Order: sequence, then structure tokens, then C-alpha cells
Amino acid sequence: MYATPVDAYGRYEPVTLKNIHDHPGFRRIPEALRHEVEVAAQVLPFRTNPYVLDELIDWDAVPDDPIFQLVFPQRAMLEPEAFARVEAALAAGDRDALTREVWRVRRAMNPHPAGQLTHNVPELDGRRLAGLQHKYAETVLFFPAGGQTCHAFCTYCFRWAQFVGDRDLKFESNRVEDLVRYLRAHPEVTDVLVTGGDPMVMKTALLARYLEPLLEVETLRSIRIGSKSLAYWPMRFTTDPDAAELLRLFERVVARGKQLAFMAHFSHPRELETGPVRAAIQNLLGADAVIRTQAPLVRHVNDDADVWAEKWRREVSLGLVPYYMFVERDTGPKRYFEVPLAEAQRIFAGAYRQVSGLARTVRGPSMSAFPGKVRIVGTAEVAGEKVFVLEFLQARDPSWVGRPFFARYSETATWLDELEPAFGAARFFYEA
Ligand code: SF4
Repeated sequence: MYATPVDAYGRYEPVTLKNIHDHPGFRRIPEALRHEVEVAAQVLPFRTNPYVLDELIDWDAVPDDPIFQLVFPQRAMLEPEAFARVEAALAAGDRDALTREVWRVRRAMNPHPAGQLTHNVPELDGRRLAGLQHKYAETVLFFPAGGQTCHAFCTYCFRWAQFVGDRDLKFESNRVEDLVRYLRAHPEVTDVLVTGGDPMVMKTALLARYLEPLLEVETLRSIRIGSKSLAYWPMRFTTDPDAAELLRLFERVVARGKQLAFMAHFSHPRELETGPVRAAIQNLLGADAVIRTQAPLVRHVNDDADVWAEKWRREVSLGLVPYYMFVERDTGPKRYFEVPLAEAQRIFAGAYRQVSGLARTVRGPSMSAFPGKVRIVGTAEVAGEKVFVLEFLQARDPSWVGRPFFARYSETATWLDELEPAFGAARFFYEA
């Protein structure tokens, strides 16, 4: 039997700039902070909901509260001069000038890091399949058109460009038939990652239209769903009107011999504490889904080894599998959230040391960079030189995986392209 706890939140209704001022917690914070949110949210997508506001945010701890940081755009997320320009345009009440300023700032924020819009788009019969990405041999990403929003937005989102209403920046597909034909032409693909945005914003009937044709593809072994709905709207799996139907859909996937791998995005242990999330996890596991967890390491939200250790411990005790700690990508308000690679590695190691073997399924810190997923294994002193030891967990060329390589140690580098090869080499081995 699935858990159906008391329906405390009713139907999902987003909270945006239009109605956030009605929320009692938000009304309590200083006027100046509310104004800053209003300005920053002209640029960065802002959307949340009553569950996040009432269950996850500690309003007494605002603005430092990690979940407040996670969902509320802030002044320091924009460059001071960009903030001032947007603020002035907003105060002047000139919509056109405001739109121009907002887009000027957005375009400077690297909307599509690691070539995600232009690279890895597969072709079939000479036609580019928009809304699909095929970077690693065994996995194809599919961006269903109905799933390109979220129950709440993260301020650090690397897919923020999906939410700002510009068709040129967006990738999505309505054509599951293209995906099926592509999979039949590429039997090496064993996994499809359905992602967004968040596919769980779709009604079950719509999600089924995307998933059911995939069940006919024999070479496909896993359907992964990338989602933050367990953290942001767990009622999707309990009291939403079509929650039971959703769980039955997942059961059908498993009954057809495919793994339903739910890739859950949890940024902070607090997201795992509430009654609704626990009931939702129980229901998903009851539908035979496997839940793996992942999140980026970001300043102001989870830049602390104890926070990660606690998160992984709670995940394991709830039956989840810790999977990835990511390095924040080079996009959006990167400067506000970034943690240097050296510090990221120390945080990862500090957390990893604290947890039992059951939580050591986690891998990181990992950069989803252009050539592949690169993990910082650690630091070492080799022949008198301090170096980072790195490895590919995934790579454009599968032969690169698992081959250690070395970069000169840096206390400040925050991404792969800021690293230099160690031992005087002119380039890394994977650079032709
Ligand atoms: S849930 Fe995922 S896709 Fe949605 S805003 Fe957060 S990071 Fe971005």
C-alpha cells in the first residue's frame, strides 16, 4: 500500500514575484532585502511554492538560511554594476528599457555551459534532433517539451536559460517517436535520461506518452528521471490527484524489465527531514524505483563537509543511494556560488571520511565539462610538484575513462579550463 498522508498543501500553485509579497515569512524580512530580491529576480528565474516556503525555509535565519539562498535571487548574485542598471530601469518603470537591461545581463551569464545547446545534438536521416543530447555512448538525454519548468527554481541552476522565455536558448522535444527511432538505430544506448527542467511537473498522462513508447525498445535497460520534485514538491508522489497513477506507471516500467532510476536532486539535509518527503520516498521505493541522489556543491548552501556527511547519512537511512557531488558549472551567478576545486576536494574528502561504507557510493567532486565528467581524485606531491590527481568518470572517448592524469595544484581554480597540465606538459592527454 502506498502512503497517502494528510493533504496539507492542496494542488500545486507556484509562488512568483506576483504573489510572494503575500507570504508572512517574506513580509517579515527587511524591506531592503525584499527590494533586492525583486531586482535580482528580474534577471534570474524565480519560482517557488508554499511547501518550500513553509516547510524548508527557516525565516528566522534569513538571509543566511541555505534554502532561502537556494531559491531566492539575491543582490550579490549579479555584478554590482548590472544590479544597479536593472534597479534603475525597474525604478523608471520603462518596460522596454528593463527588458533590454535584463537581457544584456543574462547574455553575459553564459546561458549554455559546456556547449550543451550546440554540441551533442544527434542526427537521424540527416536531421538534427532538437531536444536530444547524445554525449556518452550508452546514455541519451531527452528534454520533453512538457517538462521544461520546475516546482521551484534553484538560483544556481545550470539550465536557467530553459526558463526565461527565449526560444533560441531553449532545447526541448515533443517527438518521442524520434527518440525511439534513434534508439533503434543505436543499440549501444542502454540508458535514457529524461530531464528538464523537471519531468515530474508533467501530469502522469503526459509523462506516460513519453515513457510508454520507450518500453518497446528492447536494447534500453534504464529509464532515468532527473528531478528535484522530492525536495520541492513531494506531494507529487502522495496526494497529487494523479500520484497513484504515476506510481503505477513506474511499476509498469519495472515490470517491463527496465530499471526506473530516479535521479533525485537534494542540495541540503533539511530537504530530507519533512513528513511529506519521507512518505514520497517510501512510495517511490514501493514502486520499485531506485533513487540515486546528486547535487552541486555551492557556496552559501552546502559548502560544508558536515552538511554533506549528514545529507548522505540521511539518504542512506531512507533507502537512497548517494551518487554525485558536482562542481558548480560556469553559468548564471557562478561567482556567487563557486567553490575552488581545491576546497571542493577537501569538503568532499572531509564528508566521505565521516560516513559508513554504505554512503561511499558517492563520487565527486565531479565537473561535467566539455570533454567529459572529470573527478578530482585528490592532491599529491609527485617528483617535488604539488598536483591534482584527476580522472574521467565519463568521456567523449570511452578509452579516457579511469586513466589518471595530473594538473598543477591551484588554490583558486574553479573549473577544468583553469587548470594547467603538471610536469611541464604542454597539454592534457585528451587534448589533441
Ligand atoms: S530543479 Fe534542476 S532544473 Fe530546476 S531549477 Fe533546480 S537545478 Fe534547475
